[in-house]
Amino acid sequence: MNYFKKFFGHLNTINRHKWEVFKLSCKVGIPFRGILHDLSKYSPTEFFESVKYYSDGKFSPIISCKKDIGYSNAWLHHKGRNKHHFEYWYDYAAPEETPIIPFKYMLEMICDRVAASKTYKRGHYNDNNSLEYFYKEREKIKLNPKLLSYLEDVFKKLGKYGEKKVLNKKYLEKLYLKHIK
Ligand SMILES: [Zn+2]
Repeated sequence: MNYFKKFFGHLNTINRHKWEVFKLSCKVGIPFRGILHDLSKYSPTEFFESVKYYSDGKFSPIISCKKDIGYSNAWLHHKGRNKHHFEYWYDYAAPEETPIIPFKYMLEMICDRVAASKTYKRGHYNDNNSLEYFYKEREKIKLNPKLLSYLEDVFKKLGKYGEKKVLNKKYLEKLYLKHIK
């Protein structure tokens, strides 16, 4: 694939993802976080590495880079700046390795994961996909057990009741408070 195609292919992937997250973030009442979401992907450190490893928009260039050289500068840059990633909060040397992440970032994380499920499934998305995607990764996620059970509950309820009922700030906040107690 020529450079021009990879450049615009990756730009398109970011823009489409941001648009999906923005729509969801409006639903859950955090439009401003939706606008700021993943902005660092446009920074040179993240952008050009992902252009280099761009394949077709369905496979993560960050994973390709890690397979190639063992790590990804784009990812290290990204996770250090974006609080909707649990990797931002994880610190083995802190008294609590996996602290309780503030609610607004958990909301953004939920939007991000639902948007990612929609992107992977393209036209075949349904409300159960976020739970399936969560179960695939669950064992590897370094997240506070209370927040893990929160996410599981949110995605279960999403599959059961749908976006309209579940992707709602009050509803999600009530569940959050119940789980972190
Ligand atoms: Zn991100």
